[in-house]
This record gives sequence, structure tokens and C-alpha cells, in this order.
Amino acid sequence: MANVYNFSAGPAVMPREVLEQVQKELLSYKNSGMSVMEISHRSSLFADIQKDAESNLRALMNIPDEYDVLFLQGGATLQFTMAPLNLAINKRKIGFVDTGHWSQRAIEEAQLIDGISVNKIASGEDSNYTKLPKIDDSLQENVDYIHVTLNNTIEGTAFRTVPNIKGQSIVGDMSSNILGQRYNVRDFGMIYAGAQKNIGPAGLTVVIIRHDLVEKAPELPAMLSYKKLVAKHSTLNTPPVFAIYCAGLVFEWLLTQGGVDAMEKRNREKAQLLYDYLDASTLFQSPVDVESRSLTNIPFVTGNAELDNQFIELANANNLVGLKGHRLVGGMRASLYNAFPMEGVKKLITVMEKFELEHKHKEVG
Ligand SMILES: *Cc1c(COP(=O)(O)O)cnc(C)c1O
Repeated sequence: MANVYNFSAGPAVMPREVLEQVQKELLSYKNSGMSVMEISHRSSLFADIQKDAESNLRALMNIPDEYDVLFLQGGATLQFTMAPLNLAINKRKIGFVDTGHWSQRAIEEAQLIDGISVNKIASGEDSNYTKLPKIDDSLQENVDYIHVTLNNTIEGTAFRTVPNIKGQSIVGDMSSNILGQRYNVRDFGMIYAGAQKNIGPAGLTVVIIRHDLVEKAPELPAMLSYKKLVAKHSTLNTPPVFAIYCAGLVFEWLLTQGGVDAMEKRNREKAQLLYDYLDASTLFQSPVDVESRSLTNIPFVTGNAELDNQFIELANANNLVGLKGHRLVGGMRASLYNAFPMEGVKKLITVMEKFELEHKHKEVG
């Protein structure tokens, strides 16, 4: 089997130990004679999987008791609709921090809901989203909440600390850095994340929401109602059993690795190594403002699309896969999620150095 380093932005690399455990117990989960894919979502086997997954996630993120945890479907994208329906109920207005593609998708979806209006309270547009906008901390907009994309998967920017927005609930999209760095859950009214980036397989969305917000939400169709989903512990209908099981194994793995703080330390080391190389390179560079840089998604370019393609080919030939940048920004992107090992970053840099030398040689010759 080829030993590849997978830099994909999502679905993305999972911990090898977790995949091996899935393989080991795939045909008979806990000696039941059934695969985890075959057991009832009403069985005690699954109830335990879900209970353990939730309590381990609570331990990892220090989720206070007054927050509910939901395991849903529909991806992070469905939360672009659910959050407004459930939370934009008094002013019927949402403040958005526009940091690029995913925040714009959230804005577009909110605008489709009858009666809801949006207000861009800050935008990174003038830097072409290579820099996070400054948010006025005295801001007192007349909105129900403010939506922030904590880590911008495509542009490679991240709020490493939560913007200080006085007196407003923050709804945070953490799809690509949940569990990869420490945030204080109490700084948010709600956090959501699609699982397929920094947690596990696609098909699962984690929602963490303060209970008073759930209580105040209006009557809605069941699958769109946090209140009804909380009341049924996310099992209003058949939940994504296999994805929840895998996520639970990843949470256990994270605990054995030292938890979120240990992950953050490792992620900083991995990212710093690559940023240091990029900043010193005469060929490759990071287009992202130093203060705004993400730990988990690192775009880089040569400035020449043809050279970028040649590099991606060389990387593939060296078993470094998934480096092609998002079609919106081009170039390359290295996604260095929790399960991505330091050795892969070192190997990438070795191949980049080789490419840089060859290219310079050509210029000189
Ligand atoms: C990938 C991503 C999304 C969309 O996630 P889906 O689960 O595919 O709906 C939303 N926000 C961010 C920040 C993302 O990285």
C-alpha cells in the first residue's frame, strides 16, 4: 500500500489508529456479531457510542453544562439556514463578519429566509480576504447575533482569538479548526462544524448551543428545530450512526494524545515550520497576512500558474496528495489538521526545496 501524506481540505486525513480500530471491529462491533453499520440507532450499543462521544467532546472542549451538544446531518451548510431560523427571532437581523467564501455562503443562505436581513459588520474584501477585518469592539448593532467564520478554509485565515464583540451572541463556524486550537465555548452562543475536516467522516455536523437560546427558539419543522432535536438527543430520526461512531473514536484518540492543548501545540509547530519555509523561500510564498494566518489551512503560490501545476505534479509523484488549491484561489493549499503528522510537513518542505533549487537552476542556466 502506498504511504501517502494527504493534505486534502476535506474530507481529510483521519488518525491511522482510528482507521485501524474501525477495521478491526467492522464486522462485529463489541462481539455483537453485527457491524456498527447494522445496529439499531435505538440499541444500547449505539446509545453508549453517542453518550461516550458527547462526554468526550465535552471534556475535550470544556463544554459547560448549560450548552447542549447535537450530532446532526446536512453539513455545516444546513447550519447556514438553521441558525437564522432558530436564533434570528427578535430583531430578525444578523451581523456577519465577511471573511470570504464560507461566510458569504452563510450570508446568502440567511438572505433567502423571509423577513431576515443581514448586516455586514466588517469585511476583508479590500485585502481580497488575505487579511482578517478589524472588528470595532464597541459595536452595538441592532442584531440577534453575529456570525463569525473562525477559520477560513479556502483563504487560509483564522481568528486565533474570538473577536471581542460586546453584548452580542456569536455564532461561530468552526468547521475547519474545531478541536485544533483552544477556544472558550462561553465566548459563543453557538458553535457548529461539519465533521469531515478536523473530526471524522462526512455526514455528521456537530452543534454546540447555549441552552437558553434553544429554549427561546420558535416552533419550527422538527428537523430544523434545535429544541426538538435537543429534546430527542439528536435521534429525532435515524442519526448518522457510522459517522458518530468514527467521531467518537477520534475524540478518544484526541484524549490519549493530550487533548486540544496538545493538538494546538503540535498544530502551531507544523504550521510554523511551513510558514517559516514559505517566508524564506525565493519561489514559494504565502499570500496571507502574517497576523491572520490559519494553523490548519495554508495556501501558497509561486506566482506562476504553470509552475504551480508542475509543483503539484512533482508532489503527487512523491506521494504528497491533495495539495491543489481551491478553484477560487488557485495555487496550492496544505491542510494540516490534527491527524496530519509533522513528518508529512517535513517531507513537503523537502520536495519544495528540491523544486525551488531546480527552478532557480533553470533561471541561472
Ligand atoms: C467546508 C466548510 C463548510 C461547508 O461544510 P459542509 O459540511 O460541506 O456543508 C462551511 N464552513 C466552513 C468554514 C468550511 O470549511
